[in-house]
Amino acid sequence: MPGIVCKFGGTSLADADQFRRVRAIIEANPDRRVIVVSAPGKRFAQDQKVTDLLLICYDLLDKHLEIDPVYNRIRERFRDIAVALAIELDIDALLDDTRTRILKNPARDFIASRGEYLTAKLMAAWLGADFIEPADAIFLLDDLRVHPKTYQHLSNLLSTKKLSVVPGFYGKNERGRITTFSRGGSDITGSIVARAIAADIYENWTDVSGFLMADPRIVPNARQIDELTYKELRELAYMGATVLHDEAVFPVREVGIPIEIRNTNDPHGPFTRIVATRQLNDRVVTGIAGRKDFALFQIEKDLMNKMIGFGRRVLQVFESYGVSIDHMPTGIDNMSVVVRAGNLEDKTAAIVEEIQRTLEPDSIEVFPDLAIIATVGIGMIHCVGFAGRLCSAVARHGINLRVIDLGASEDNMIIGIDNRHFDAAIRAIYHEFVG
Ligand code: ASP
Repeated sequence: MPGIVCKFGGTSLADADQFRRVRAIIEANPDRRVIVVSAPGKRFAQDQKVTDLLLICYDLLDKHLEIDPVYNRIRERFRDIAVALAIELDIDALLDDTRTRILKNPARDFIASRGEYLTAKLMAAWLGADFIEPADAIFLLDDLRVHPKTYQHLSNLLSTKKLSVVPGFYGKNERGRITTFSRGGSDITGSIVARAIAADIYENWTDVSGFLMADPRIVPNARQIDELTYKELRELAYMGATVLHDEAVFPVREVGIPIEIRNTNDPHGPFTRIVATRQLNDRVVTGIAGRKDFALFQIEKDLMNKMIGFGRRVLQVFESYGVSIDHMPTGIDNMSVVVRAGNLEDKTAAIVEEIQRTLEPDSIEVFPDLAIIATVGIGMIHCVGFAGRLCSAVARHGINLRVIDLGASEDNMIIGIDNRHFDAAIRAIYHEFVG
């Protein structure tokens, strides 16, 4: 009796009309038997997400200030939905109780998790479904990896045929406290739940019809991606394609459950399917994604190739400052380290000084304001001249390449360019390979 797990994102739950759409989607297919919900998102551009309002409550409490002006806005969001849908649930009692608990336990993750909790309570009451408490079943290690016992616990709780609703975004840590994933983490909950029930499909319902080959704000009318592999998804999501949380792929990937990204506002429209393996087609590039604001450390030292341990010692310096590394293209007498500028804070000078002191390079230079673009596609390994075409396409626009990295698996070609050329480079690559 595996069935389908459906996760609905914040915009799909933003108001009563969206709740109605969710119900229609669930009722259209009896295999859809577990629902994972986010907290209500924005109803219009200037609106605030319920999670953001809850985080403001946390900040207020932290400063010993009154939360009610903000908590009342959260109250209104849930009351509006409950009243419009005539949901049989004492919503005021639930909101009062939640407020009391927040005041008693003003921990950041606990407060942040209440949006999902309240949404799931409301949805379960409306659909006549079971409410499943993630704190009883989703056990998280300190680094937010899932404790393996989670799957058995969840599977036991979800073994009935009855429709169930699970709040996304949180679980319980090893000290028994509510812990949230990073923002957008309900996608991870959906994946964990799908794996626990060995679902046939993990449907992730959002406000777009799947992944596009490039950001439509940069490439208007960018094509839809019909199918991509978990690996391609991971590369694109990590590099800025924000439709799905970049860690959501792991629980389902281990057991090969396909993910479908579908549009709540166009349930019969196109969607993207994410699978373990796919047939190669004539399109070499699956998608293009990128991020701005990296820094490039370029280190030169003659005969570096013969110095055993040089690379390790460079990396150790970054490690000792707690800075994680994104890319590390190397040459014979030089190596480059690419890191996110946001992770560096004000440590750049200290890192440079320590590399100079301990490794005595011939030179070390830092280039800030670097953008990284990943061009992803499992077909590129078979495509003779791929890298040449990509570099020429960018060069034709007068854009200087600071980094080129084809990676070890040859399904993701990374280039680094100045931030200011970001959009033009993405467009150049798109037009070269997609037309
Ligand atoms: N509500 C949380 C957020 O806004 C989690 C989620 O939506 O996935 O990040």
